[in-house]
Amino acid sequence: MRTQVAIVGAGPAGLLLSHLLYLRGIESVVLEARSRDYVEQRVRAGVLEQGTVDTLVSSGVGERLLREGLVHHGIELRFGGQSHRIAFEKLVPGRAITVYGQQEVVKDLIAARLAAGGQILFEVADVVPEGIDGPHPEVSFTHRGERRAIQADFIAGCDGFHGICRDAIPPGVLQFFDKEYPFGWLGVLAAVAPSSEELIYASNDRGFALHSMRSPQVSRFYLQVPPDEDIAAWPDERIWAELAARLETVSGWSLATGPVLEKGITAMRSFVAEPMQFGRLFLAGDASHIVPPTGAKGLNLAAFDVTVLTEALAGWYACGDATLLDGYSRACLRRVWRAQHFSWWMTTLLHSFESYDAYDRRLQQSYLDYVCTSEAASTSLAENYVGLALH
Ligand SMILES: Cc1cc2nc3c(=O)[nH]c(=O)nc-3n(C[C@H](O)[C@H](O)[C@H](O)COP(=O)(O)OP(=O)(O)OC[C@H]3O[C@@H](n4cnc5c(N)ncnc54)[C@H](O)[C@@H]3O)c2cc1C
Repeated sequence: MRTQVAIVGAGPAGLLLSHLLYLRGIESVVLEARSRDYVEQRVRAGVLEQGTVDTLVSSGVGERLLREGLVHHGIELRFGGQSHRIAFEKLVPGRAITVYGQQEVVKDLIAARLAAGGQILFEVADVVPEGIDGPHPEVSFTHRGERRAIQADFIAGCDGFHGICRDAIPPGVLQFFDKEYPFGWLGVLAAVAPSSEELIYASNDRGFALHSMRSPQVSRFYLQVPPDEDIAAWPDERIWAELAARLETVSGWSLATGPVLEKGITAMRSFVAEPMQFGRLFLAGDASHIVPPTGAKGLNLAAFDVTVLTEALAGWYACGDATLLDGYSRACLRRVWRAQHFSWWMTTLLHSFESYDAYDRRLQQSYLDYVCTSEAASTSLAENYVGLALH
């Protein structure tokens, strides 16, 4: 088999890259370890920045997103028995976020690729990128019991944090930056109408809680829990009781409950591998960087990376100009580090840390108060949340 760009991973990064390349007349093949059904059902992120929405819409895969996505013009911060709205329409006029599940983005992209005759090979195993430091890289893999290989001009490692592409880069090339947080998030998907029109970020002595949503009928919740927590310790009744305790802290507001559809615990971590390229292998999305989900940046960064990579590859195929390819890592990392800082900042602002003493807690409360009462501070939060125009 031969293609121009071999893409490892059919998450948002790999699928969007394949779609954007197709629009520029560049061929690709996507190799995915999981089944189509699995990737289309995998519940993860759900907050799209304006720039991500614009990319999806302008590339022709935004029709359902525009119809079903929930446009939000603010978020709520809840602490100390009070609610404070961060009003995007006032602080960052013309910019908003759209709530639309990552699995819906994935479904739309898979449908678009297959309708255009694109090749996505699901359930591949033992994927090995080879020859990445020369002009003729290839990816070998097992599909339907048969060992196969794809020759390509470039390989895109879009295989997430636990993928294999990052490890294919020789030791000593990459520099790693890593931070683990002393807690995880228990994520819950429930068949109940949201109790709030906008996301609620609640900072509470019992721990952080987030009330989000995926549609007018489906809500998404998160609870801060110990990092090694066993999901078995969280029967549905305990989840609802804890959500109520952390969210029902303002008078007159109550949480509606319903059947839990799915629940799971995710570790909270920040990670960057630099640079995002070695030879003919380019890393994009979670393969190169992850953030704690507090700032809702992971999926948006993945979309930005592949937009930059598409331009760079299009430049190379148009006239053999490698300038943009050479600048790929630098162009992405500026935005990656802004998102790293914002995600870390939101996380430390809103969570309870066992290591905090009374002084640290007072500082945290003071900063929360500042963010909600100073227009300069709330504008900073708002512009980072909706996504900065960094190129
Ligand atoms: C468990 C979890 C929960 C999350 N929850 C949230 C959230 O609530 N809010 C939020 O904002 N963000 C969340 N995120 C972050 C966000 O979902 C990611 O940033 C986003 O998925 C990045 O997209 P990606 O395409 O780079 O990587 P991924 O979506 O991870 O896609 C990588 C793809 O590569 C495939 N793959 C991996 N290894 C191989 C291999 N060897 N061969 C072939 N294919 C391979 C995987 O199966 C996967 O389909 C979550 C992430 C995780 C992991």
